[in-house]
Amino acid sequence: MTIRGRLLALAIGGVLPLLIVGLTFLWVVWREKQIQLNESMEQQAELAAVVFDRWLDGQYQPLKTIASYPPEHFKDKSALEGTLKAAVIRRAGWIDLRVLDTSGRIASIYPANAESLSVNVTDKVLAGMRRGLPSVETDWEGGKGRNLVAIALPVEGVGVVVARIDGAALKEPFSGMSLPDRAVITLVDQRHRIAYRTQTPESTIGMDLTDSGMLATLKAQNTAVVLVKSSIDGIERVYGLGRAGKTGYIVLVGVPSASLYAAAWRQLMSYAVVGLIVVFCTMTGALLITRSIARPVRLLSLAADEFGGGNFAARAPAEGRDVISRLGMNFNAMAERLQKREARRTELDRLKSEFVSTVSHELRTPLTTIKALTRLLMREGLDETKRREYIETISVECDRQIDFVLNLLDLSRIEGGVMRVTHERVDVDGLISSVVKSETRSAEKRRHEFRVEVDHDVPPACADPKELRRVLSNIIENAIKYTPDGGRIILSARAADSEVLIGVSDNGRGIPPEDMPILFDKFHRGRPAPQSAAMGDGTSNAEFFEDADVSGVGLGLYLARNVIEQMGGRISVESEVGVGSTFTLHLPLWTDGGCNKPTREEFAHGQTVTGR
Ligand code: ADP
Repeated sequence: MTIRGRLLALAIGGVLPLLIVGLTFLWVVWREKQIQLNESMEQQAELAAVVFDRWLDGQYQPLKTIASYPPEHFKDKSALEGTLKAAVIRRAGWIDLRVLDTSGRIASIYPANAESLSVNVTDKVLAGMRRGLPSVETDWEGGKGRNLVAIALPVEGVGVVVARIDGAALKEPFSGMSLPDRAVITLVDQRHRIAYRTQTPESTIGMDLTDSGMLATLKAQNTAVVLVKSSIDGIERVYGLGRAGKTGYIVLVGVPSASLYAAAWRQLMSYAVVGLIVVFCTMTGALLITRSIARPVRLLSLAADEFGGGNFAARAPAEGRDVISRLGMNFNAMAERLQKREARRTELDRLKSEFVSTVSHELRTPLTTIKALTRLLMREGLDETKRREYIETISVECDRQIDFVLNLLDLSRIEGGVMRVTHERVDVDGLISSVVKSETRSAEKRRHEFRVEVDHDVPPACADPKELRRVLSNIIENAIKYTPDGGRIILSARAADSEVLIGVSDNGRGIPPEDMPILFDKFHRGRPAPQSAAMGDGTSNAEFFEDADVSGVGLGLYLARNVIEQMGGRISVESEVGVGSTFTLHLPLWTDGGCNKPTREEFAHGQTVTGR
């Protein structure tokens, strides 16, 4: 799995529980809200049931008054009729009023032509009378198609007084209740038939709700709540159910679930939207963070791939201050070092192959000369002067060959760590005279002025005389080589502090400043500076190097420094392009006690390579 994938999994792993907790919270809030709203519906139904019960109680008042009359009043027919009439006409919705004797026969009735009670109502009324209790029953059969409510009250020693009220009057108790749009109040009688329903066509009156599933929820309780789709108008409503006292009537208050839960639903939705925004922001934030971490890592990996593929210029982005940027910086620093090392290795490879070809050349040229001169020598009749000249040249070339091979041997000794020098008393004056003798010929060949400035009291140095001679010859040969024909070479020697200084100055091409730090590296061979000043004789430096003998392999100075350092000395250089160079050998003094080697600090302090 990629880093990006892992980080995303981490983010999702963090957000998912948040989402689950949030959804659970919303569900709990929603359930609580629903329960609250359902309870409020139950309360409304209870209130409506109480209102209906009170209304019914009010309807009973005239019956209670009549029932309180003395028995003599019931015997006076005309007085009783008057009482009944007065009661009926005073009450809105009252249809008729009658007094039945204990066997159910009519003792008195108003109006005289009132319909007889249905059998069902008569039975109920007489049953109540026998138990001494009031009763109430819907009279579905009487009232010429209208539903009537029959209320009855037993009269002590007489029978029972029964009033019938028009079903339309049932709206009275509920008229004061304000309900939301499409909400309904339904009054169901003891036989579960609708006695009254707000906003409803006439046809629904009398409808049996036994099978509707609504009333069953009430069981033995006084209140209940149920969510039902109305069989009358098809609207889903939450119905609160309440029993109206002991009357057997049930009041149902139904509010469309859509409008009841609307506010709560809106609140829930706003929570959900806020939650989704939070999740979205969290995920976006996580994505951005993931990107900010994964992208640099990916770029770093790409850079590493490219680098591994050989593009040493490949670098990772490292702009920030965070850990990944630091990683990028470290990678870049490492890449920088490797790139330099690679460049150095390539350069060394180039130098080595150049070295091999130069060595071949260095060996072949003098051998060719020797071979040619040998052939000439073998000719008959060669005069003595020529013969001598040829033999001397052969001898010089042989010396050069020996020197060259010795240089190669020294190189392998230094590389193998087995280079050893002696520390002996060296007479500087004598050594210089001997070197001058052997180098004068080469200098003359190039028409150089070869000057020697040795102090008469220069003290002896501590060195390996053979190696010192080779080093000095090498440096003088360089001065001859890198100075245009007709130049000036000064060889000097003097004492300074605890050292003997042997200097070789020339007015040659000089060394470019950028070559100074690598001047003593093995295989280093300088190129003439293109901007070099014109030589004293009007020849440009470039021209000079095209013609002059500048053969070499880049080992002379490397060997010189190693050998001189083994002797406890050092080499310093001062040079200016187009003006000339001075190489100075700093050698320890020879004292009576032996070598006066410099301390480590003096030695380190004395490393000088200067250019202008
Ligand atoms: P080589 O002479 O075989 O090239 P050296 O190690 O003796 O190798 O010298 C290294 C380089 O230093 C030379 O190639 C040359 O560029 C530079 N150099 C040495 N001596 C002088 C000098 N006297 N003047 C100018 N350049 C010099």
